[in-house]
Amino acid sequence: MTGKLEDKVAIVTGASSGIGQATAITLAAVGAKVVIAARREDRLNAVAKQITDNGGQALPVVADVTDEGQSHNLIQKAHTEFGKIDILVNNAGIALIGKIDGADTSEWRRMIDINVLGLLYTTHAVLPILKSQQSGHIVNISSVAGRFARAGMGIYNVTKWGVNAFSEALRQEVSKDHIRVTIIEPGIVNTEINDYITDPAAKQNFEERRKAITPLESEDIAAAIVYAVTQPQRVNVNEILIRPTLQE
Ligand code: NDP
Repeated sequence: MTGKLEDKVAIVTGASSGIGQATAITLAAVGAKVVIAARREDRLNAVAKQITDNGGQALPVVADVTDEGQSHNLIQKAHTEFGKIDILVNNAGIALIGKIDGADTSEWRRMIDINVLGLLYTTHAVLPILKSQQSGHIVNISSVAGRFARAGMGIYNVTKWGVNAFSEALRQEVSKDHIRVTIIEPGIVNTEINDYITDPAAKQNFEERRKAITPLESEDIAAAIVYAVTQPQRVNVNEILIRPTLQE
């Protein structure tokens, strides 16, 4: 496989569906060796097969990013297999949206565990490797919800606001080590993310918002990620906010 990312090694979390799956396939299509992580092994294997059938290279690793040990093992496995890590896409995430009053607070903990702590664990594990290389690129998938709060999305807003704040602090800490940090902030994307919403009113409201517009496709976000990671080393694309044209 030849392309702009030939000889680069990329890790994508949450690569068993949606944005992560499309990102892994797209990165592999431009030459990257991809390490794809998520909890569902069958889905990961299907993505890996699609990549290898297209002539790319993929290593599926079953990992729950909320477990610090598993996050650490994911990074180590990628490093052991390929000898370096060029790109980490922190994409795994969940949006258990609903009003604050009366919420099931266990869902708040799940969102914070996956969207925030999972991303922190993989980043913490990869930093010593990127610093020793004096190169690397961390791409954190945030959301429009990381920039604009909305009634009915408060805790999801908390998690994505957290991702943005962490990413900017991280950028300042590691820029001198030639490590780049990019935040991607999608609007509504046509994925499975809504299937997991348990609050019926929130689910219906979100489905109506999605049906009223033409949402983005996962490939649109993958293209933005490829844009960011294929810029010359002097360019650090700090932030990309992408909404569907019809999203208010
Ligand atoms: P999907 O539900 O399609 O994908 C989520 C991915 O995260 C799956 O691969 C899932 O795999 C993985 N995942 C969930 N929990 C864990 C975990 N504990 N450990 C490892 N992997 C996990 O949703 P999207 O593709 O839409 O979401 C991807 C990212 O994009 C999320 O961060 C989301 O917040 C963000 N986003 C999505 C938008 C949208 O409208 N769809 C808008 C803005 C941002 P598995 O279950 O196999 O572990």
